[in-house]
Amino acid sequence: MPIYEYRCNQCKKEFGHLFLNLKEIKQVRCKFCNSNNLTKLLSSFRVHQTEESRLSEFNTSKPRGEDFYKDSRNIGLWAKKRVKELGVDLGPKLDEIVEKGRTGKILDEYNK
Ligand SMILES: [Zn+2]
Repeated sequence: MPIYEYRCNQCKKEFGHLFLNLKEIKQVRCKFCNSNNLTKLLSSFRVHQTEESRLSEFNTSKPRGEDFYKDSRNIGLWAKKRVKELGVDLGPKLDEIVEKGRTGKILDEYNK
């Protein structure tokens, strides 16, 4: 679902509009004055990153902040990235290990 932002040339206000279907785009009007004299702005809308793009942006040589591991999706990312860099292919086994790490189950196994 695209979100577009517009500036109204009539009242100079800016607003964003979420389009549920693409036909609406041609019919969009200013939310404030109902003018159709609009300039489309660059959207600030960002799609959620896929794991692939997180991996490619992720730099293992940079120190990670405290916030990094508050995002549980980042746990295991480091390991995956390192493994990829080293050219080791652990296949599904790695996913299994990472998944255990994410869910905390890996600790249970170490404590046995
Ligand atoms: Zn307006």
